[in-house]
Amino acid sequence: MKIAKDFRWEMGHRLQCHKGKCFNLHGHSYKLTVEFDGEINETTGMVMDYFDVKDVVGPLVERLDHSVAVWDKDSALIKVLNELNSRKVVLPFETTAENLCHYFLAEIKKAKLPENITNVKIRVCETENTYAEDMIEL
Ligand SMILES: [Zn+2]
Repeated sequence: MKIAKDFRWEMGHRLQCHKGKCFNLHGHSYKLTVEFDGEINETTGMVMDYFDVKDVVGPLVERLDHSVAVWDKDSALIKVLNELNSRKVVLPFETTAENLCHYFLAEIKKAKLPENITNVKIRVCETENTYAEDMIEL
C-alpha cells in the first residue's frame, strides 16, 4: 500500500555550472510529492497518518520557502544575498532537482518513521513539465 502527499514552495536558485539560462538567478514554484510504502497498520487503518507526513516534511519545505537556495561554492551569490539581507539556504550541492531529491530523502531518513514503512519516494518538480525522482528503501 502507498500513501502520498504533495507540498509546494517558492524558491530562487541558479546553477553555477550550467552553460545556459539556468546560470542566471531565477525561481520556481516547486512541487514535491512524497510517497510512503508499507503495510497498513491494523490498529490505525493507515500506512502513515497524513499529519505525521506533514510533521516530517513540512519543516523541510518551510526552510526553503521564499528563500534562495545556494550551493556553498557560490561565494559570489552568497555575498550578494548577505548584502541584501535576503533569506537564503546554503546547501553543500548544486541546487538541481536531482540533488534536492537526495537532500529530502536524506532528511526524511533521519526522522522517526513508522516501522511499517519500507520505501520512501520523492519527486521534485521545478516546472509543470519536468521532475526528478528518487527512492530509498528503509
Ligand atoms: Zn531553475
